Amino acid sequence: MAAHDTHDALQIQELHEVVRHRLHTHEQRMTPIRQRLVEILARADRPLTIPEVLGNRRGLAQSSVYRNLVVLEQVDVVRRVVTHDEFARFELAEDLTAHHHHLICASCGRVEDLPATAAVERSVAAAVEEAAQRAGFRTQHHRLDLVGLCSRCA
Ligand SMILES: [Zn+2]
Ligand SMILES: [Zn+2]
Repeated sequence: MAAHDTHDALQIQELHEVVRHRLHTHEQRMTPIRQRLVEILARADRPLTIPEVLGNRRGLAQSSVYRNLVVLEQVDVVRRVVTHDEFARFELAEDLTAHHHHLICASCGRVEDLPATAAVERSVAAAVEEAAQRAGFRTQHHRLDLVGLCSRCA
């Protein structure tokens, strides 16, 4: 099971309630396409490009998918994962799913979720704490993506 499906992920009904609330806070409404986009991202086990969101789903137009993903990003429901290829990828915000990292393939551009383990989280925190403190920086959370070659490209 991927990070998005772990036990601490919200159930889909709760998820829609939270999304609805965040939209309202920004004077936006829940619409059928926004609801559908949230469900598609909730079921995915990795960040999706717009072509992947479209897949062979009927009734979704590329321009409105993009426009609505941008709105969902603005209200902190969706997070954009930027890599070095031309495709932006989208996933649900971490506080709606679970903290995780990404494996980004520099060759084919594929992005996989890498679930956070307690050991990795401890090591990352220990590794960056001193440097952050020296800079007078108070860390709230981190984003860690590994760039390299996936198993198919290696
Ligand atoms: Zn690859
Ligand atoms: Zn982490």
